[in-house]
Amino acid sequence: VSIPAHVYCHEAIEELSSYLDGELTEQRRQAIEHHLHRCPPCEQIASFEVELRRVIADRCQTSVPQDLAARIRAALDGEAGAAR
Ligand SMILES: [Zn+2]
Repeated sequence: VSIPAHVYCHEAIEELSSYLDGELTEQRRQAIEHHLHRCPPCEQIASFEVELRRVIADRCQTSVPQDLAARIRAALDGEAGAAR
């Protein structure tokens, strides 16, 4: 088991979005995670970012069915027209 590389606060914050997107290497991900667990200010920023993404994801999800419903309605209208 290797000790995670030391991560500075600005590095943790800069790489936070990559960390949350799962775009980091396993080693880098562990290093950031290690920093967040030991650094309350950064952990707070990280949890805020997670919450922010959750809210954005919720908004996107509510807009998708509306679009889908419109497309289904359009498809049904097209079918109804063809049946006539
Ligand atoms: Zn920090």
